[in-house]
Amino acid sequence: MSAPSGAGKSTICEQVLRDFNKLKFSVSYTTRQVRGAEKDGIDYFFITADAFEKKIETGFWLEWAKVHDNYYGTSIDYINENLNNGFSILLDIDVEGAIQILEKYPESVTIFIMPPDMTELRERLIKRGTDSIDTIDKRIKNAETEIAKKDLYKYIVVNDDLDAAVNETKSILGKELL
Ligand code: 5GP
Repeated sequence: MSAPSGAGKSTICEQVLRDFNKLKFSVSYTTRQVRGAEKDGIDYFFITADAFEKKIETGFWLEWAKVHDNYYGTSIDYINENLNNGFSILLDIDVEGAIQILEKYPESVTIFIMPPDMTELRERLIKRGTDSIDTIDKRIKNAETEIAKKDLYKYIVVNDDLDAAVNETKSILGKELL
């Protein structure tokens, strides 16, 4: 699943995961700062850029990307362990990451969550109160680049109403995760 930041993807992921007990969230690694009430090991594994780069050398990543000046990556071991235990895995990753995953797992189900419009997206990011205006501007710019690639995804869900977007995502997964 991909979406520009502020499109409501984390909330949708959280709500969807409650209904699918064989679906597990992939906890990514990142070098960005902890935001708000985020917890290490639950929202992300927070590591240094140095540690991240070492893991590039040792082939630790299934996929990785640099988003808004920070590294983000998915561990091969985490995914393999959960796949071997019979879980499907929900990845919350950017477009570059999704392209890498599709190359390795062409059967992946891809969903792009769209914000209703850019003005609303900017307002959501400001309201969230966790990023500076500078960072928000960077995220908006990145959002435009990501939205331009939305047709790479099998499904596009527009989040103008959270409950409707959650239900639509659940029905996609209900159909795909047979
Ligand atoms: P945020 O900093 O807002 O949590 O996430 C920023 C962006 O990084 C989002 O688009 C999110 O989907 C993406 N992201 C989070 N984890 C990963 C990951 O493991 N790999 C990739 N490629 N992107 C990720």
